[in-house]
Amino acid sequence: AAARRPLMAGNWKLNFDHLQAIAFVQKVAWTLKDAKHDFSDVEVAVFPPFTDLRSVQTLVDADKLELHYGAQDVSQHDSGAHTGEISGQFLSALGCDYVIIGHSERRADHGESDEVVHAKAVASLRHGLTPVICVGETAEDLEQHGASAIPVAQLGAAVAELPKDAELVIAYEPVWAIGSGQAASAEQAEAVCKALREKLAELHGQEQADRTRILYGGSVKAENIAGFMREPNIDGALIGGASLKVDEFCSIARFRH
Ligand code: PEP
Repeated sequence: AAARRPLMAGNWKLNFDHLQAIAFVQKVAWTLKDAKHDFSDVEVAVFPPFTDLRSVQTLVDADKLELHYGAQDVSQHDSGAHTGEISGQFLSALGCDYVIIGHSERRADHGESDEVVHAKAVASLRHGLTPVICVGETAEDLEQHGASAIPVAQLGAAVAELPKDAELVIAYEPVWAIGSGQAASAEQAEAVCKALREKLAELHGQEQADRTRILYGGSVKAENIAGFMREPNIDGALIGGASLKVDEFCSIARFRH
């Protein structure tokens, strides 16, 4: 992981309205600035609900914060008769760098198929957004197919025919570890992240595989982040619950100290 800049990404899910988002980002900014430690070797990003993005943009721009942000989903369409959808163009216009795609909650609750995830990755890149492509097996998949088979197949479907020079982030999130308090072990997570990097090399070449950051997600906390970050194929984390607490989120970002 040495050559890849770690990414600590906070997925807020359906939490914080825009006023709470402002208060939270101000506290994170203060902590990051105030810290005696140097954060320049870690990239920190938050993924608020759509309705908070404009407020986050205003704060980040006004204070020139070293804080990146993105959305939790994007439409595969750019415009037209798609009620309730948000296009990549709108997200770009709000200064988003990233968009989460194929989170297991969207796959499960909104029936997002591998084809939809692929179409959303294409739409993100069309608008200059870096897709954070989530893959991961359920407890049942784990029992039937082992840990790697399903995430590797999901990755293959998501990145099929994307440009070899596209900037991507992959998040390995075992569904059984999300929100359960039961994180994968660092060794388990490393084995799957390694398999994902090998799949990317097979499909898109070693150069993209070496450059792409692969995150682990699933019950990451301040107390377990260092173990994951010691693994050679884990380049950061996608953090749900623990990203809603300023101190804990900042401790995760400060994993080296
Ligand atoms: C997530 O939903 O992306 C996630 C990793 O959640 P948690 O950290 O709460 O397990």
